Amino acid sequence: MLRIRNLEAGYRNLRVLRSVSMHVNMGEIVAIVGANGAGKTTLLSTISGLVTATGGEIDFLGRPIGDMAADKIPFLGCLMVPEGRQVFASMSVEENLILGGHLIQKEGRKVVQAMMEKQYDLFPILAERRSQYAGTLSGGEQQMLAMARALMGRPTLLMLDEPSTGLAPLIVREIFNIIVRLRDEGNTVLLVEQNAKAALEVADRGYVLETGKVILQGASEDLLQNSDVQRAYLGRE
Ligand code: ATP
Repeated sequence: MLRIRNLEAGYRNLRVLRSVSMHVNMGEIVAIVGANGAGKTTLLSTISGLVTATGGEIDFLGRPIGDMAADKIPFLGCLMVPEGRQVFASMSVEENLILGGHLIQKEGRKVVQAMMEKQYDLFPILAERRSQYAGTLSGGEQQMLAMARALMGRPTLLMLDEPSTGLAPLIVREIFNIIVRLRDEGNTVLLVEQNAKAALEVADRGYVLETGKVILQGASEDLLQNSDVQRAYLGRE
């Protein structure tokens, strides 16, 4: 579904991604793990068209998107939930969801409504809070809303940037259980995480990014057993 070859990207004089190659198959959860500053967010931003690639190729559903404008890419079904959620704080939960539904608006109100009900089924707490301002939700609820808002656009590929940031372990588990449910229902998820353990425990495959390079890749259970990964990212000796 997503295939990246020798991708190079960065900011002004700063080269961040160095010949990154990776792929995501339909129906998988793929985790990108790595330390702070490894280039994980830059990778998602480059796929989304927010950062311009300076080299390499990005194909989504067999189509090159490396030069495509950031506002076109969501319409192809490639959607990112940014780090720090960025929900619209002074709008209600429901209004945030309606905004997410603009990608499917042309299919009619009934379709948007049905999609909203689907989100309330997946995230019952959002149904309870539907009239509440998004800014008054807890961090975990805001993460759920940001995910639900993206899901309203019926993405073919959902990209999540650090969904665990700032959340208590119990809430992280809840969010990751939802990610697994999404995959089990046929969705495809590209998950960027500093919390390597939580991410690899739910992912099918993973890539370890270090200073902008993929240094390891493989099945998640193999990465979890890998002694370098354990030492550097899982806090085990
Ligand atoms: P984090 O977990 O902190 O988000 P990350 O792995 O996602 O880390 P990036 O945010 O992609 O890493 O950052 C990679 C490098 O690019 C860092 O050195 C960072 O300082 C730099 N960088 C990120 N965003 C910008 C920007 N908008 N302008 C200039 N440099 C940036």
